[in-house]
Amino acid sequence: MDQKERIGHVHSIESFGTVDGPGVRFVVFLQGCPLRCKYCHNPDTWKPGIGTEMTADQILEQFFRNEPFYHNGGITVTGGEPLLQIDFVTELFTKAKARGVHTCVDTSGITFRNDDPDQLARFDALCAVTDLVLLDIKHPDPEAHKELTGHSNENILEFAHYLAARHKDTWIRHVVVPGITDNEEEWKKIGELMAHLPNVKALEVLPYHTMGIKKYETLGMDYPLKGVPALKAEVAKHAREVILIARRKALEHPGN
Ligand code: SF4
Repeated sequence: MDQKERIGHVHSIESFGTVDGPGVRFVVFLQGCPLRCKYCHNPDTWKPGIGTEMTADQILEQFFRNEPFYHNGGITVTGGEPLLQIDFVTELFTKAKARGVHTCVDTSGITFRNDDPDQLARFDALCAVTDLVLLDIKHPDPEAHKELTGHSNENILEFAHYLAARHKDTWIRHVVVPGITDNEEEWKKIGELMAHLPNVKALEVLPYHTMGIKKYETLGMDYPLKGVPALKAEVAKHAREVILIARRKALEHPGN
């Protein structure tokens, strides 16, 4: 093994993912996340520095074993929060792009820092080898975001504008949770934000589900949304329409 190769802490790998970016994808879940989203269904990814230690070459070797399956897809790195290991992701994507693989990162954007030149340089390096960013907008309001995830959304919104300034293809994701984000005014704010992000190519609005409860039980953890029912798919569909209408209106009447 090359002495200089970085080690990534991998939670798990899904060989044929179909929901994390375009086409059939090789999905790498990295370990570690600083957020504590109340609806998180992967609390086993939170702890950093554990999991399987892998190099970028080892991951790519697995990818290329089934390469024909990914001709319309590529590699997605998710988590946890994959950009806790940003240098590793950049190394993996640099090697993947050199071999013509489509690269996608699914992130909350929480580690972005506009005021730290070193961190900004890291994001620039990542951006140069990333084809698509899946960005979670968990709540448009900073206080409500903190209540939902444990952190304000300021860096996340800055990251969204950073991606727009670099014309980086981005898909926005939003989870609708009954009693927390099932609010038309908040949906409209997401649409208004999107009006400032011409790089956004798609919007995925996902209904909250309760499939994570078992994991919390297994880990001996309290489930933060006990008693909150799963969201009906029609509500998520309606939320998506409200967001897109608000975006259109904001683009048509930018001063309002
Ligand atoms: S960002 Fe993702 S992995 Fe981290 S707590 Fe939120 S839902 Fe869970």
